[in-house]
Amino acid sequence: MTVVNDPQSPMYIPEKNREIARERAAERKSRIKGYLEVRDSIPTGTNRRERTEKSKARILEILGGTGDDWNDHRWHIGNVIKDTSTLSRILDLNDKEVAEIEKAARLCRWAVSPYYASLIDPSNRSCPVYMQSIPTSREYIEKGTEDHYAIKYNSPAPLITRLYPDRLIINVTNICAMFCRHCLRKKDISSKDMIYSRDNVRAALDYIASSPEIRDVLLTGGDALALPDNYLDWILGELDDIRHVEIKRLGSRMLATLPQRVTPELCGMLARHKPVYLNTQFNSPMEITPEAETAVDRLIGAGVIVGNQSVLLRGINNDVNVMKKLVHELVRIRVRPYYIFNCKKLEGIRHFRVPVSDGLNIIENLRGYTSGLAVPTFIITAPEGRGKTPMAPAYLLNYNRNGKLLFRTWAGDVCEYEDELLDE
Ligand code: SF4
Repeated sequence: MTVVNDPQSPMYIPEKNREIARERAAERKSRIKGYLEVRDSIPTGTNRRERTEKSKARILEILGGTGDDWNDHRWHIGNVIKDTSTLSRILDLNDKEVAEIEKAARLCRWAVSPYYASLIDPSNRSCPVYMQSIPTSREYIEKGTEDHYAIKYNSPAPLITRLYPDRLIINVTNICAMFCRHCLRKKDISSKDMIYSRDNVRAALDYIASSPEIRDVLLTGGDALALPDNYLDWILGELDDIRHVEIKRLGSRMLATLPQRVTPELCGMLARHKPVYLNTQFNSPMEITPEAETAVDRLIGAGVIVGNQSVLLRGINNDVNVMKKLVHELVRIRVRPYYIFNCKKLEGIRHFRVPVSDGLNIIENLRGYTSGLAVPTFIITAPEGRGKTPMAPAYLLNYNRNGKLLFRTWAGDVCEYEDELLDE
């Protein structure tokens, strides 16, 4: 007799109960039937590898690079694609597309790393990677607004943005491996690349040193990994010397746009500054490639905790199944889905916006339907720099403090729950 068939065993289940459990399991499975039907057809950076390899070969030929160059982030930075004649050779652009790109570029420049360009499906203008990297006429047709307040009244010292009680940002550069078309900080991209000087960073560090309540400092920009290793090393070392700074965070999208930047040398340096967290931005499962996975492995090997902050984008990830695939791919490569941001109503990016209900619907279809580890928090940023505000479907239906809560479960069952009453 095996242990589970022994009525004395804590794992013993009578057959009639097992039958009920099988029915319940079948009912649970039926709740993700729609996802299971499409799951394997959703493009990812792994299952579209063959096409990506072809694009890579074509791009290397056009740019005159080698396989070794491809693995060198400096080659990608030196060969960033930012003119329509090169892009046309890679993506077979027509005249109208070229004209639109050039007109949109007058409002906000564009650039894309050869690596990220290799992820584009050249035959599909609705490709999520194309839409994130190549400008279209919608950037200048659709009007948005500006939130000047956020920067104007929230920078108590040079390069600093401070919105919260115990943490703040140092904006170290405006450089990125590509200029995302949906970027919330498009105004920072400006017309030229800038790495801010040590004097400016020194002033920011002095502010932090004189603010003992600051325990968490985020270096971002731009992209924190656009800084050379030695400059980043210096800033992290200075922060290590401020005793009340408990953690350092890096904001970098390079895991998605140029994962070759995550070199063993960079990771060796980061390992000396524990604890370091890195928040990146994967918005599409197509961005999760073997190269991205290698970058994450290296960071984790160096003790860096990696999280992901997606932006909810029309036609890119505002679909329950695509977002589910994205969070599954993230946890598979050991990146914790952390936030989904609602896109702001800003000039040049408004066409990416979707109703807040799309975000709520995504969370509704993740919570309970997949591991809690894979469920990010959906955030809208309050106007005038008032901070990130979580939005969640309503689970609590009634809380009248008479000892009972009325709530619904992820599966829609309405339940009562006995609360603990305070002693009179
Ligand atoms: S990498 Fe980040 S900061 Fe840079 S353009 Fe993209 S979204 Fe904006």
